[in-house]
Order: sequence, then structure tokens, then C-alpha cells
Amino acid sequence: MSPNLRIIGGLPTRAIAIAVFAAFAVSSVAATLARQNPAASPGPAKSVLRHFHLERHPVVALTFDDVPAAGGLHLDETRVGIVTRLIDELKANHLRGIYGFVNGDGVGEDPDLQQALHLWLAAGMNIGNHTFSHPALDDTAAENYIHDIAADEPTLREYDPAGDWHWFRYPYLEEGNTSQKREAVRGWLLGNGYRIAQVTLNFQDDDWDDPYGRCLAKHDQAGIQWLEQSYMENAAEFIRMGREEQIVAFGHEIPNVLLLHETDFTTLMLPRLMKLLHSQGFHFAPISKVERDPIYALDPYEPIPGGGSITNQVLNARHRSYLLFKPEPVEKLDRLCK
Ligand SMILES: [Zn+2]
Repeated sequence: MSPNLRIIGGLPTRAIAIAVFAAFAVSSVAATLARQNPAASPGPAKSVLRHFHLERHPVVALTFDDVPAAGGLHLDETRVGIVTRLIDELKANHLRGIYGFVNGDGVGEDPDLQQALHLWLAAGMNIGNHTFSHPALDDTAAENYIHDIAADEPTLREYDPAGDWHWFRYPYLEEGNTSQKREAVRGWLLGNGYRIAQVTLNFQDDDWDDPYGRCLAKHDQAGIQWLEQSYMENAAEFIRMGREEQIVAFGHEIPNVLLLHETDFTTLMLPRLMKLLHSQGFHFAPISKVERDPIYALDPYEPIPGGGSITNQVLNARHRSYLLFKPEPVEKLDRLCK
């Protein structure tokens, strides 16, 4: 699902971007094929990328997925322990109203999860819908998927009866691998008062949590050190790429939504991640304010198997070809501390 590819070619003007929006309904089979076959894309991208001029003060809304049970519980950690550390760091940065996207599955049977949710809301944070059981829409019939979205609502209503929880984050960012599924689910969401919590920045932060648990269990300090370093390198790389992609897709940067997960490891790394964002001049805003940007109201209509950010959706609809960029170290993450 990750956008491990970079676009090539000249930078578009705003006028070109607008012209492309008018062409959304056109099939993007060629673009999809190009994405799946990076070997078909010519030339190195680095020289192109150096021409990007990034904003001095980009804007970002932080969001956390898979609340309240993201990733594993390592050693004698608890969900309450994780959420307490997360809240402390957000408060230290004067951040309130951050959205956590909830999967209700298992909450009813686990007092630790229940208390974690209560603490999150009591700290002034928000919750949104991430489906009940985290299905992948590519593998699920629209009717069953919609049922799973609705099944999450009793938990949201119980924990935040007066809250603005009608925000939906698609698991795996999969909005439908066929037009029929995409339109059915989107139609249900909009018809039931939901806004779609789109994403512009995503660095697969949750992929570091399982190896972290294994390295902790083995007391492998060198392994943990590598995880910390590679997490930050990956974050910096993907955040930069996410911003550059916007210039290609929209002609300019837009206010961002950063996808994170409420895992033990991301909670550990959050102070360093905040430092990185501050060093790049980021200002922070609530998602409700960020998504007032008209780009977030775009509907590219195109199904994307495997899902993607709003930027990926627009680029996909533009029939553009892409190049590989520095990828996530998935193989080492998979074998570390085994
Ligand atoms: Zn998720």
C-alpha cells in the first residue's frame, strides 16, 4: 500500500493541475500498470527532486490509528501505560483535539483498553471510526464492510456521546479496489454524516513495533538502536516525499494529515518525531481545520487496489509514471531479533 514510487518529469503548473482534476473520470489503467512495474520507469529521480522548494512552515494534523490496541504489548507494558505516555508528549507540545481512530473489537472485554480510551478522551483528545474489526476493503464485500463500520458506532457513542466522531479512516487507506465498492462505501459514509480522514503523510510507523518487541525480549540493545535510527530516517524520507508529491499533484503543498499508530514504539519515538517536525518548521492544526483545504473535497473517482493517500489518488488519476525512492527497510525489520 505504501507509495514506494516517485514521479518523474517536469513540475506542473497550477493550471495543469486544475486541468488534470477535470480529467478524473478517465481510466488510469496505464498509470496503475506503471505503478506496479517500477522497472518500466526511466532515469534517476534525484536531480528532479532537488528543484522542489518546500514551504518554510508546512501545517500538519497528527492522527493515531488502531486506537486503543495498536501493535503488541511488550514485556509488562499496558495500554494505559502507552496512552499515558502518548498523552504526556502531546500535552508537552500543547496539542489537544488529536484524533484517535478506534477499532471497537475487544474493547468490551478488556478493562485496560476501556481505561485507555477513557484517559484519551479525558485528556481532551477525540475519537473517530476506523471500523470495528479492521477489515481490508480490497478483500471485503462493500455490504460487509459497511456493516463493520456501523458496528464500531456503539463504542464511539458510548465513550464519546457528545463528540464529533463522524470521521472515518479507511484501514490500510483502501478506499475500494473496484468502482462499485468505492462508490458504495463512500456513499454510505457521506450519507451517514461522515467525513473521510484523508492522509497526506505516512511512513508505516507501525512496522517498527513487532521487531521492537522482539528486541526488547532479547535485550538486544544494538537492535533497538538500529530501530530508533531507521525509524527516524524513514520518517524524514517519507515526510519529504509526501510533501514533494503534493507539488507534483496539486502545484503546491497543502495542509497535511500525518498517519501514525498508537503503538508502544511510536509512543517511545514521538518526542524525537516532534523534534523533527519542529525542525522542519511544521505548525500543528486540528484535522477539521486542515481538511477545509479544497483539495480534501476532491473525489478522484478512481479505485486504487492497495489504497493510498489523497495525493496518491490524484496522481493515479493523472496517468503519471513513477520512480522508486529510498524504500522502507522491510526485510531487515522482518528478520531483526528473530
Ligand atoms: Zn489501522
